[in-house]
Amino acid sequence: MRIELTALHPGINELDIVLDKSLIDPEMAPLAQNGRLKLTVDNQESVLYIKGRVRARVALECARCLKAFRKDLEADIEAIGTLQGHSSLDEESCDEDILVFTQFDTSIDLTHLVTEELSTAMPMAAVCSESCAGLCPMCGINLNKEKCSCSTTGIDPRWEPLLKLKKE
Ligand SMILES: [Zn+2]
Ligand SMILES: [Zn+2]
Repeated sequence: MRIELTALHPGINELDIVLDKSLIDPEMAPLAQNGRLKLTVDNQESVLYIKGRVRARVALECARCLKAFRKDLEADIEAIGTLQGHSSLDEESCDEDILVFTQFDTSIDLTHLVTEELSTAMPMAAVCSESCAGLCPMCGINLNKEKCSCSTTGIDPRWEPLLKLKKE
């Protein structure tokens, strides 16, 4: 996932880059398929102002019911590309990420930047839906689909057959 420097013309460039799923560390963001990166690059020769948005779909497992599900992530990308030795930028006054390139580089790699942004956009607790009832901690039944008696009584399911006998 790169900005091809040689393909940039002066001024504003609109780029539409495929986000190759295999480039993103699944520990950071487990992509389900390729994503998309839309960027506006303002090319001022030794400085590039990079702004845009990344969209990707991640494959997650619900923390409550263990169901596999997919979630769309979106994150803003903002960075400045600067030619090595170019001093007009005061790094400390900039909030944006600085990507330094040399006069010999033909492209700028965005993989690290995009991975960081996607991992920040990942949900803290992955749940298939806010109302997911999860699994019963006693018998492990999926409470979204079925009901069990142990969840209300709090009785160890191993005793259930005995309780039944008692009732009969
Ligand atoms: Zn769930
Ligand atoms: Zn149960």
